[in-house]
Amino acid sequence: MKPIKKEKPGENPVRASYLPFSQPWIEEEEIRGVVEVLKSGWLTTGRKTLQFEEEFSKYIGVPHSLAFNSCTGGLHCALAALGIGPGDEVITSVFTFAATANVVCHLGAEPVFVDIDPQTLNIDHKKIEEKISPRTKAIIPVHYGGRPCEMDNILALAKKYNLYVVEDAAHALGAIYKGKMIGALDSQVTCFSFYPTKCITTGEGGMNTTRSPELASKMKTWRLHGISRDAWDRYQKGGSWYYEVVSPGYKYNLTDLASAIGIAQLKKAEEFQRRREKIVSRYFKALKDFPFILPPPFKEGRNAWHLFPIQLKLEELNCTREEFIEALSKENIGTSVHFIPLHLMPFYREKGWKEGDFPNAEEAFRRIISLPLFPKMSEEDQESVIMALEKVVGWYSK
Ligand SMILES: *Cc1c(COP(=O)(O)O)cnc(C)c1O
Repeated sequence: MKPIKKEKPGENPVRASYLPFSQPWIEEEEIRGVVEVLKSGWLTTGRKTLQFEEEFSKYIGVPHSLAFNSCTGGLHCALAALGIGPGDEVITSVFTFAATANVVCHLGAEPVFVDIDPQTLNIDHKKIEEKISPRTKAIIPVHYGGRPCEMDNILALAKKYNLYVVEDAAHALGAIYKGKMIGALDSQVTCFSFYPTKCITTGEGGMNTTRSPELASKMKTWRLHGISRDAWDRYQKGGSWYYEVVSPGYKYNLTDLASAIGIAQLKKAEEFQRRREKIVSRYFKALKDFPFILPPPFKEGRNAWHLFPIQLKLEELNCTREEFIEALSKENIGTSVHFIPLHLMPFYREKGWKEGDFPNAEEAFRRIISLPLFPKMSEEDQESVIMALEKVVGWYSK
């Protein structure tokens, strides 16, 4: 990095308006789709959702896709359909969003955390085996930031111990692992999120994919009250009012309003991916000499780049991560932190975990910042991020 004159962050900010860390990209097509549904007389799960599911299957290259009103609901249903319940253990990364582990608790089962690989920030597959017990039923790998986990190793381990694999692909729409789209691998279920910051959005929503027709059918039932046939079938002409409840299912169906947005967004998924890649490659180029640890290359496929996480080399800076974020914010640059390791949360601490249990996740957490990254971000937006980083690094460098 070139030497910079010290200028206090916040005085004379690099941009006048605040740049959020992420922002959805909604265009006329999404709006038209929603209006069309509003005028159609059918608002909840119906024709549009079926279309969204079919198009999603085609994009991923998987036989079954089921739309949910969130990825959290999708994860919950996947585990329920696999029969996970009280007394069972489910292994997952400690460096994830609360939903991944909370759903395990919803079912009366216990999440068992594993530390991350300090480079990839994904679950360290070499540390999974030592956590497997006779009660272990499933592994939930989380593709952190959109970078696929070491799925060959994880799937082999699952096979060896007869475990299910449910992928948390909330970040990973568009990711490719060894030639296959995430969502089309040999795990039992893969769960995607359409939360507004994720790769595509439906406002709120999610999608589960599976190769198994039995699991697809079970998840469909769990998704809507445990009813064996959905409302769309029942309320059509010739449909019957009769239904049966076969499990105490949930209410996790996606509305046609949301699916209309999803159909329009999915068409742009590849363009969004290209734009994310372009932004990322500019970040790599501009930040290579900064006191940051940048994400390592991924050679086995494609990173979906939901996030661009940098880790501050705190040894070279006179500040904490919090102060760094605060200074960027004063420059009108939004950032986020993914994630606070789950074992540090009061609820999970009560289960017996404590500081020091997962040193790699704790160390990453101390240094990590997610920089703004979204397809709609302009070159000028990104230039302002880089200028603000230069300024903040200049101010705090030792
Ligand atoms: C966003 C997210 C979820 C939950 O997705 P929702 O659609 O908001 O329910 C689950 N896991 C991870 C890792 C996430 O980032």
